Amino acid sequence: MQTIIEPFRIKSVEPIYFNTAAERKIILEKAFYNPFLIHSNDVLIDLLTDSGTSAMSSNQWAGIMQGDESYAGSPSFFRFEKTIQDITGMPIVIPTHQGRAAEKILFSILGGPGKYIVSNTLFDTTRANIEFSGAAGVDLICEAGKHPTIPAPFKGNMDVDALEKFIAEKGAANIPLCMITVTNNSGGGQPVSMQNIKDVKKICSANNIPLFIDACRFAENAWFIKLREAGYANKPVPEIVRELFSYADGCTMSAKKDAFANIGGFLAMHNEALAKQCRNLLIMTEGFPTYGGLAGRDLEAIAIGLTEVMDEHYLQYRIRSIEYLTNKLIAAGVPVMQPAGGHAVYLVADEFLPHIRVDQYPGQALVGALYEHGGIRSVEIGSLMFGKYNEDGKLIPAALELVRLAIPRRVYTQSHIDYVAEVIIEVFNKRDAIKGLTIIEEAPTLRHFTAKLKPVASAIATNETETPKQFSSISIQ
Ligand SMILES: *Cc1c(COP(=O)(O)O)cnc(C)c1O
Repeated sequence: MQTIIEPFRIKSVEPIYFNTAAERKIILEKAFYNPFLIHSNDVLIDLLTDSGTSAMSSNQWAGIMQGDESYAGSPSFFRFEKTIQDITGMPIVIPTHQGRAAEKILFSILGGPGKYIVSNTLFDTTRANIEFSGAAGVDLICEAGKHPTIPAPFKGNMDVDALEKFIAEKGAANIPLCMITVTNNSGGGQPVSMQNIKDVKKICSANNIPLFIDACRFAENAWFIKLREAGYANKPVPEIVRELFSYADGCTMSAKKDAFANIGGFLAMHNEALAKQCRNLLIMTEGFPTYGGLAGRDLEAIAIGLTEVMDEHYLQYRIRSIEYLTNKLIAAGVPVMQPAGGHAVYLVADEFLPHIRVDQYPGQALVGALYEHGGIRSVEIGSLMFGKYNEDGKLIPAALELVRLAIPRRVYTQSHIDYVAEVIIEVFNKRDAIKGLTIIEEAPTLRHFTAKLKPVASAIATNETETPKQFSSISIQ
């Protein structure tokens, strides 16, 4: 097979600033071993997130110039609205400045104490907004989704039996919303099948529970459906996308993902009564309903990006580039989530660093090692992000200890990705020297963004009863 090439030429470039491992060691220490506290100029390859980091197309930049900044009734809004109506089939479109602003509005209305929001897996901001309202977020991921290194085609699926059981247990009246995240970001960027969405919709309908899609990566999910689900191989992606949304009562979206925009988001839905409540909150917190926290130029860039993302040459390249990195790592024996997800490669940190106890955050330790060794910035999706404490102050760990290397859209070339693979493999070969971390400061919610950490004394985590082992070399440069 011929090489799948990047389906674009590069017109404008940004420099990468180089630094040395010795310099990065100091930078990491000063950033308290938290990648969010590192300045981006100090990063060589930034895989912290695929959110808002896309390269915009020349068409999007042209759209930026055409943005109409009228406070009310801007033609840019109507282009934005029409594009989203066409893609989703949902008549009501409410712009917000990010995905989480859409979530905040939705759950301020539907959440509240005693309520449960059920999902395949809630993203961290979604869960935080649900919990802030007093409601509880419930992840009902399918069995395949719980085994990171065992491949399966649709590991983002919701467990429909668990859903039925949960509804029977808690009562449909206490479940104001079911939300399916496509692809499942916190569960490895794994896709959800059309069949699963249909099955969930059926259960929701029978119980009068509205189904919303967290649609951040709808196009990537649609491409997986085309590749892997029977009956979709010859369907055009926009048709698959339209079918996917047809089972939903509404959606939230971060335009910083599959819309190639640097900012933005929206809520879309069918229910006018709910939309009225949403707009009332929107005016208070975001802005007038025809701009909702965005500039007219952003609305243009998002509308154009939403159309571009469904291009099949783009999606083939996009999904293949993630798979390319994943396969290189598998060949070297590095424990990674399998199969490759849609937007990121996920290292299985507790298998990569089996000598680091979960309460010494193997994922965060690995994030630090990748930065120090090769200037690669990644993010922990494990017990630092999702861990809780029990009444005795002991850590209740997350289900998975992952490190996410999110690939920005249309930004890095194959040689960048080859470099990333080399760095990860070099770190893997020196993994025994990596030390666990301990938290010295943390916030009550979304602690991973601001937490400060420091290395534990010994490279090998020990129980108090064991004799601590001493290592002469603790650096992995
Ligand atoms: C990024 C993301 C969000 C939140 O969107 P922001 O624009 O960052 O506020 C919600 N859900 C998922 C699945 C995401 O990936």
